[in-house]
Amino acid sequence: MRVTASAESRLRSGHPWLYAEQIRSISHAGAAGDVAVVFDRKRAFLAAGLWEPHAPLRVRVLRAREPGPIDAALLDARVGAAWARRAPLHGSDTDAYRLVHGESDGLPGFVADRYADTLVVGLFGHAWIPHLRALLASLLARHPFARVVLRLSRALAAAPEHLHGLADGALLLGTLPETPLTYRERGLRFEVDPVHGQKTGAFLDQRDNRARVEALAAGRRVLNAFSYTGGFSLFACRGGAQQVTSLDQSAPALAACERNLALNRDVPAVAAARHESVRGDAFAVMDAMARSGRRFDLVIVDPPGFAHRRAQVPGALAAYARLTTLALGVLAPEGRLVLASCSAPVTPEAFREVVVEAARRAGRALRKLEETGHALDHPTDFAESRYLKAVFAIG
Ligand code: SAH
Repeated sequence: MRVTASAESRLRSGHPWLYAEQIRSISHAGAAGDVAVVFDRKRAFLAAGLWEPHAPLRVRVLRAREPGPIDAALLDARVGAAWARRAPLHGSDTDAYRLVHGESDGLPGFVADRYADTLVVGLFGHAWIPHLRALLASLLARHPFARVVLRLSRALAAAPEHLHGLADGALLLGTLPETPLTYRERGLRFEVDPVHGQKTGAFLDQRDNRARVEALAAGRRVLNAFSYTGGFSLFACRGGAQQVTSLDQSAPALAACERNLALNRDVPAVAAARHESVRGDAFAVMDAMARSGRRFDLVIVDPPGFAHRRAQVPGALAAYARLTTLALGVLAPEGRLVLASCSAPVTPEAFREVVVEAARRAGRALRKLEETGHALDHPTDFAESRYLKAVFAIG
């Protein structure tokens, strides 16, 4: 195929995406997962990747500049490099982490997460379906997983006619046990539902921030807003928090949080911590807590993504400003504030600015402790994959 001049320079610089509107001509129609080869104006090889006929993102690039085969050996080499990158995690007291992080591991649109002996693979394009068998063989050669669960992006799940009978949550290998699956993160135990849970079951990307919260928690009253299954709450408990409040609108998430606390009763600090679950809208509940004089010494706010497209950024920034104001409303003087954003189109600079500005308007000068991004197993080798940012501050 031939592409527009601007697409040519993007591909030449190593960008892994080609959109439908960037394609000028194409020699013949292909099926999902076929190899698409892009030639430049001088008919020289530019890039090759997987053809994605059913989505605006039409080609996911696997080779740029240098031509070469796209086959099982290439996929195995990419899986092998991704595996080697996670060496510090293999065999550690953390057995749940991302094994393959899409674009940043040279496999655009494909993710693989480990939860102990369960492998969860996530597809963001139909193009991967014909290559799934090869990828699974590569992953299973590196670890003898007992089962493999398939997760599909929303766009994929919405187009079942192209899925060849596959479905979100399908078990591709092994069986599911009667009891919940569990994994360990820095020694703490968590249950996980990789079939129905958010993302592939847990928010593995926040692992390092949870460790930072553990280090900040000693003796503090902690509010964990948007707590999901209680990741930050458990680490706060183990860090010696005096009291921990988990706040989420989802009853099943709060119930999982309670079970996770029970799973770690053998950890003295977890057994000793006072924990309460509060179900409700985090905006409304924090507002009510502030009015009633409730205060915390450490407040964590890790909401769901507010912006997926650039047009949604202003609304997202307004929500982050509001959450900063609400969090400061319940934060005791000199308390610790942790605000996270997983909205990809919101830059770290814009996020920081909105947090600092909202604090200034609330009359609280924030002193920044740290700004954090992605953990080792969520590498960000290209700009669009940088979605996670967190501000740690004293307020
Ligand atoms: N911090 C978590 C991940 C948070 S995921 C972790 O480390 O695992 C986002 C959570 O926000 C989900 O559990 C969802 O139920 C919850 N949520 C979304 N909107 C909410 C709202 N308005 N009020 C309270 N909880 C909300």
